[in-house]
Amino acid sequence: MSVAGQPGHPLKVAIVGAGPAGFYAAEALLACGLEVEIDLLERLPVPYGLVRFGVAPDHFKLKSVSAVFARIAQDARLRCFGNVALGRDVSVPELGALYHAVVVATGTDSDRRLDIPGESLPGVHAARDFVGWYNGLPDCADLDFDLDCESAVVIGQGNVAIDVCRILASPIERLRRTDIAGHALDALARSRLRHIHLIGRRGPAQAKCTPKELRELGTLPDWQVAVQATDLQLNPASEQELAQPANAQVARNLDILRDFAARPVQDGRRIHLHFLRAPVALYGNERVRSVELAVQTLTGTPGAQQARPTGERTTLDAGLVLRAVGYRGTTLPGLPFDHARGTLPHRDGRIIGDDGQWLSGWYASGWIKRGPSGVIGSNRADSADTVAALLADRPCLQGARSGRDGLHALLARRQCKVVSADGWQAIEQAESERGRQRDKPAEKFVRIPDMLATADSASRPETART
Ligand SMILES: Cc1cc2nc3c(=O)[nH]c(=O)nc-3n(C[C@H](O)[C@H](O)[C@H](O)COP(=O)(O)OP(=O)(O)OC[C@H]3O[C@@H](n4cnc5c(N)ncnc54)[C@H](O)[C@@H]3O)c2cc1C
Repeated sequence: MSVAGQPGHPLKVAIVGAGPAGFYAAEALLACGLEVEIDLLERLPVPYGLVRFGVAPDHFKLKSVSAVFARIAQDARLRCFGNVALGRDVSVPELGALYHAVVVATGTDSDRRLDIPGESLPGVHAARDFVGWYNGLPDCADLDFDLDCESAVVIGQGNVAIDVCRILASPIERLRRTDIAGHALDALARSRLRHIHLIGRRGPAQAKCTPKELRELGTLPDWQVAVQATDLQLNPASEQELAQPANAQVARNLDILRDFAARPVQDGRRIHLHFLRAPVALYGNERVRSVELAVQTLTGTPGAQQARPTGERTTLDAGLVLRAVGYRGTTLPGLPFDHARGTLPHRDGRIIGDDGQWLSGWYASGWIKRGPSGVIGSNRADSADTVAALLADRPCLQGARSGRDGLHALLARRQCKVVSADGWQAIEQAESERGRQRDKPAEKFVRIPDMLATADSASRPETART
């Protein structure tokens, strides 16, 4: 039998998840020089994952990476299956039997909790839901964020925390020029917020945000960033961390924070940066009213400092609380899962079971492989590594596979409404048109039936092509 990947005998690969990791895996496979047939499955009727539903709408330049992905989607060797979810429309054993290899690039569809009393009070949300809401994620379209209050508390100081803070404090006229969801724009226009508190468990030298995002907070008109100069005094271990060349970014953050602290205090709306504070309880009756914080101190050696409570406590008023303490992957029925890390267990991208054995033909890439860290571009090298492992395994990935034909037949039997790359384009064009009418770059559809109807009216669904 000829080896899969040779002329007339394509290596058939399914990639699950049309976010950056999925597209970069497709790019690496398309460039590998073998004959390949790639099918890209995406649970939503629209592609690009967190590029569409995570990256903040005012970061247009970053979102434009989707044009690169759209070009990959046009390659004749690749077929897109939008609105098809692994675990819902096709099971793990079914997909594994259809293809020589499957790359799982499903990202993170949950988030870490604080696990403190009061976390279930109305008004307490995951930043992930808030981000999804303002970016038009269908799962979050019906959520309600009450901005009829003066004070919001954001738990966390990574870039997601900074993003949600910036969106809460951005002038409406600025947001109107983005593709932010219409429902979010209307709600933010009515916001009464005057104080936004960003809470970090550790010190300014350990804050996870990047300088560009931090600096942007200081450019918001009508808002001043408040930092206590005393919070910027570092302990000796933090000074040593700062001196390390690998921490140049931290040094830049410190410079920015010192600049914020030195600015003359004015009346008006404030973004307060609090360091060495950990939330211990949320209080309220019908909805959240306040957050109790435990003051922390850092102990340990440089690079391994831990925050420990001093015993002192403070309280902040809060009508809205957003926890931004990390995204998290969830299990896919039929695949092993590392519950502690919220990722697929793997060795060099090969998914491994509890017994440490490789699940033959199964690979992972992106955030579901390495957890929620890194920028869009980090997924390119990550996916290239996974594809390199897949190609090295080619001698084991043999046998006849029905691939695309088999998937089409299975989805047709289940009457799945599949959205093709043409359908994706049609949805985007319709969204741009809706945006033009409102003087915005795009007005996204936030309902799945609307997306499906638009894809349907513009292109024949993929299942009809078989
Ligand atoms: C709020 C936020 C802001 C960010 N801002 C920036 C930024 O400004 N700059 C930057 O460089 N990076 C940013 N990032 C990071 C960047 O978005 C990630 O590095 C990247 O999106 C991770 O790619 P991924 O493909 O692993 O996951 P995702 O982007 O999440 O893509 C996963 C895809 O898989 C699909 N999927 C999930 N389950 C299934 C299933 N069962 N079947 C089929 N499909 C499925 C999902 O719908 C999704 O489309 C941000 C991240 C967040 C959370």
